[in-house]
Amino acid sequence: MTERVVVIGGGLAGLFTASELMLAGVDDLLVIDASASPGGVTRTIRRDGYSLESAAGTLLLPHSHLSALLERIGADVVPVEPSATMRYVYTRGRLVAVPTSPKALLAPLVPLTAKLRAAAEPFVRRKAESEDESLDAFLRRRLGDGLGGMLAWLGASGVFAGDPARLSARSTFPAIAALGEGGGSIVRGGLRRRLGRRTGATRPTSHIPVEGMTGLVETLAGVLGERFRGGFAADSVRRDGSGWVIEGPQTIRCDHVVVATAPAAAAELLGGDLGVILGKAQTAPTVVVGLGGPSHQVPLPQGFGVLTGPDAGLASLGVLFVSSYAPGRAPPGHALAKVIAGGARFPELVDWDDARIVERVGGEVARILGTDIDPSFVEIIRHRAGIPQYEIGHSAWLEEIDHLLGDRPGLHLTGWGYRGVGVAHLASDAAATASRIVERTA
Ligand SMILES: Cc1cc2nc3c(=O)[nH]c(=O)nc-3n(C[C@H](O)[C@H](O)[C@H](O)COP(=O)(O)OP(=O)(O)OC[C@H]3O[C@@H](n4cnc5c(N)ncnc54)[C@H](O)[C@@H]3O)c2cc1C
Repeated sequence: MTERVVVIGGGLAGLFTASELMLAGVDDLLVIDASASPGGVTRTIRRDGYSLESAAGTLLLPHSHLSALLERIGADVVPVEPSATMRYVYTRGRLVAVPTSPKALLAPLVPLTAKLRAAAEPFVRRKAESEDESLDAFLRRRLGDGLGGMLAWLGASGVFAGDPARLSARSTFPAIAALGEGGGSIVRGGLRRRLGRRTGATRPTSHIPVEGMTGLVETLAGVLGERFRGGFAADSVRRDGSGWVIEGPQTIRCDHVVVATAPAAAAELLGGDLGVILGKAQTAPTVVVGLGGPSHQVPLPQGFGVLTGPDAGLASLGVLFVSSYAPGRAPPGHALAKVIAGGARFPELVDWDDARIVERVGGEVARILGTDIDPSFVEIIRHRAGIPQYEIGHSAWLEEIDHLLGDRPGLHLTGWGYRGVGVAHLASDAAATASRIVERTA
């Protein structure tokens, strides 16, 4: 007997899940989205010869699930410009180059005394594994206030636009938390992993879809064909006998419903005790500002980008040197920077008007680069719903949700609000969700 599956939400999470289901032979499938077109928060804005990504722009590949899925749907991705891998940190009023290799430990990010303290890490006492600790507390305890505080700040900013004192170490960077608690030393464990890679496995590096994220979304939607229905805002999802009923512009019945929206939207749809728990999810509103112009007016270093340090006190969390690592994303002789600003540190930025945002962020970018800039291309994207924040208690929150899902066979939750905010995490979760559905329908 074939069972009907409906996916609510046609962002990357919903599209990945639907593609996995189709590849597994599930044919009676529908993806609905409130927006007319798929993609959710990801979109490639093309104007005046520039291509700016509204959200995700780069993918870390190879990755067990994402690489396999991209290959099977025929998505075209290429590595970023090899000469533009250098990362920088803006701290103490200057740009510090931080190579993506063990040499990073030598970068003048923190004073020598802080590095010596970090070197004592293997002798730091372990904590009870049951304790959910903040990223800041965990890294300071392991590596000392200097290096630990800096790394916690950069990790929280660079991935979550978040506050390291509120984010959970084990939920945001599980591999690092496991190295610190299980393997004894983050520094030694990290070096061991790199040396291990030298002997075999390929190290993941940043890649970009050739036609931008919109191109990738179009490829995914192409796999679905008429199974994607835009402009369908679901109002509620409820149980009906052994199946599920989705109310919206029409009533849809199905055997499995995958809610691939942000947890806040899932809370509205599902209501009840599950809705109360989902409604507790935290996010940080974030603003993306694209700044472009002739290269002499927007002079970017050759590199991947810069994160701002805790001492900088800026609304700008980081600047990606898009035209350095993806030269085709700006007209010849022109440069494009993508600034990520606001977040948990400066949530009010999302409510500022455009002129005020550009003045503030443009001034900060000039300070970071140490030179005036005069952009002729400006684009502002407000992510009001925000980037999910996996705060202390996130893993217990997931357990509560899983417990309640136990009584609701056929209901599945996926998306960046749950088990990883990166696109690769969405691919892993999509594969897991699809295989749960396939197992039950087999
Ligand atoms: C600034 C920024 C930079 C990023 N950079 C990277 C990066 O470089 N690399 C990386 O891997 N990741 C990056 N990410 C993360 C990545 O973009 C996200 O993981 C991903 O886009 C989230 O997809 P999603 O499908 O989970 O959610 P969404 O994109 O939010 O999709 C949810 C969908 O549900 C729909 N929906 C909501 N309510 C309803 C309803 N009632 N009925 C019907 N439909 C509904 C919405 O319309 C939406 O389309 C970045 C994110 C941001 C914000």
